[in-house]
Amino acid sequence: MIVSDVTCECGAFYRRAEASSLTGHSGQFRCSCCGALVESWEKPKARVYRLVIAPERLYQHPHVPPSPLPSSPPTTPGHAPHRADAA
Ligand SMILES: [Zn+2]
Repeated sequence: MIVSDVTCECGAFYRRAEASSLTGHSGQFRCSCCGALVESWEKPKARVYRLVIAPERLYQHPHVPPSPLPSSPPTTPGHAPHRADAA
């Protein structure tokens, strides 16, 4: 079994498992998210694909707003933290 990863142009991420001991047939694999042709092969191979991450579930890069705090370092609290062994 040969396991490798393939990525569609839409961003969908698939894991491909190819049997090394089984003979399959030539074929092609289309993305189940966008329908694009991801791979095609002519040799008789037994391949299966599993969708790992759909493009709509990929991590987005969120816009990070500026910090509402001033740029000065944060002030430390005036009292010491409570310690259990102090009593
Ligand atoms: Zn796709």
